Amino acid sequence: MDQPSNKKLLKIYQSLFSEYGSRYWWPADSRLEVIIGAILAQNVAWKNVEIAIGNLKTEGLLNSEKLYRSDVGSIAPLIRSSRFYNQKAIKIKNFMDFFYNDYNGNLEKMSQEETLLLRNKLLKIKGLGEETVDSILLYACNKPIFVVDAYTKRIFSRYGLVEEIANYSDLQFFFTKNLPQDIALYNDFHAQIVHLGNLICKKHPECGNCPIRKVGKNILCQYYSINHAFEGKSSTIKLRASREDCVT
Ligand code: SF4
Repeated sequence: MDQPSNKKLLKIYQSLFSEYGSRYWWPADSRLEVIIGAILAQNVAWKNVEIAIGNLKTEGLLNSEKLYRSDVGSIAPLIRSSRFYNQKAIKIKNFMDFFYNDYNGNLEKMSQEETLLLRNKLLKIKGLGEETVDSILLYACNKPIFVVDAYTKRIFSRYGLVEEIANYSDLQFFFTKNLPQDIALYNDFHAQIVHLGNLICKKHPECGNCPIRKVGKNILCQYYSINHAFEGKSSTIKLRASREDCVT
């Protein structure tokens, strides 16, 4: 019998956890670094973000007060590796202005804001999209918000659990509806998904190495089933064909 989605999701998470262990996200030394990393991570590989973060650290700019007082012209060259660096420098400034205007640069105060109210406020900052805002909420403010991304859609549509055309809200709703509201689970599950999407479930997936395939027959990956359906049978078919050839 087919399992309900909530059980499937937890089994998938458990299989990823037993393969990779805790991912200890977000990789950062401070909550401000999480926020800046989330802004810089838009449309670029993480290694390029790390270079930009390293430059900001060297210049002492991963400090709220200093970053707030810096202008776009001095931030942009330091984050050049993160692509669209002029736009991203403006986004960082937009966030810092909001952060000081509304919370006096106090992250504790910002984190105490009611979750959906804070989410709406952050979404109004020019240049911050849903994935960036939700990453800030979960990883910097410890709010129970599940972050989804392109990897989430790819992996879970391949499993047939979400539609390929699902938008951000559809995907997020699916996870929120089917998982217990647990910040630690939200934190690590998204990190596991990113790791699997990066490493294994790529555009051309390496299904032979996929840890989720070990979870059991009740959770079949549709992509794998369709694309590998004839693998074991091809030799049998060939064998039969050659025997039939011999009969005549
Ligand atoms: S079995 Fe293949 S397609 Fe399915 S989730 Fe794993 S890597 Fe992706």
